[in-house]
Amino acid sequence: MTQIISIANQKGGVGKTTSTINLGVALAHLQRRVLLIDLDPQGALSVGLGVKPGEPEYTVYEVLMNGAVTINQAIIPVQANLDLLPADNDLAAAEVELIPEFRREMVLRNALVPLNDWYDYILIDCPPSLSLLTVNAFTASTGVIVPMQCEFFSFRVIRTLMESVDRTRDRLNPGLELIGILPTMYSTGTIHSREVFEQARNLYGDKVFDIVIYKSIRFAEASVANKAMIDYSTDHKGALAYQQLAQTLAEKLEQRG
Ligand code: ATP
Ligand code: MG
Repeated sequence: MTQIISIANQKGGVGKTTSTINLGVALAHLQRRVLLIDLDPQGALSVGLGVKPGEPEYTVYEVLMNGAVTINQAIIPVQANLDLLPADNDLAAAEVELIPEFRREMVLRNALVPLNDWYDYILIDCPPSLSLLTVNAFTASTGVIVPMQCEFFSFRVIRTLMESVDRTRDRLNPGLELIGILPTMYSTGTIHSREVFEQARNLYGDKVFDIVIYKSIRFAEASVANKAMIDYSTDHKGALAYQQLAQTLAEKLEQRG
């Protein structure tokens, strides 16, 4: 069974795209077949993997909105075991164009059907909103990972996000699971990060991963080089953290069969 995981948080700049790339590459290194879906009109995931805006013939926009384009026509190979369904700014229009569609929350889910369990993992990089695109991601997914910046404002946002996950589970996708909250941009030098982490643990218990992603300028450097941290600076603790996360997920999700 394909594990389809939305990487979501409606707050901007919390590490969704960075987590999608690095977790994807880490899973690919573990010999899992991985598809990354860019579901953000900003297209940062696609650019981060070296795709130039306007270059792909088809993007996720056509796959969602044009019945004649199938997902296999739009998928681009990136590296061994890793493929991408790219996005660009066209996707912004889908937000509006999806509204009158029949079963508008199900469009992405239906578009994935032809993949027929080919991939072990599909990771969906969600936009920074709880829009119809994000609801499409939740409806298509088996699980959600929430990157959470280690700051106090993060909690209110996460409560709203959890409500949206619960609503999607109740109405559209009974199997949807909150896999975990991933603390990101954790700065070792401050008590603040530690306090936020502890408070997250009090509120959400073991739904908060043990793994934290430390704050490091190397992440920005890696993205300038169009690389995942794991390929850019293999021994960096940011790279190791994402590798550990991939290992943890493989153990947690795949044993269920
Ligand atoms: P958006 O909501 O705009 O899609 P996002 O949640 O996808 O943003 P990213 O694009 O992954 O967030 O990260 C935002 C910025 O923070 C980027 O410049 C990225 O390089 C940087 N960044 C990501 N993770 C870290 C980290 N652990 N330490 C330092 N910088 C980071
Ligand atoms: Mg992003």
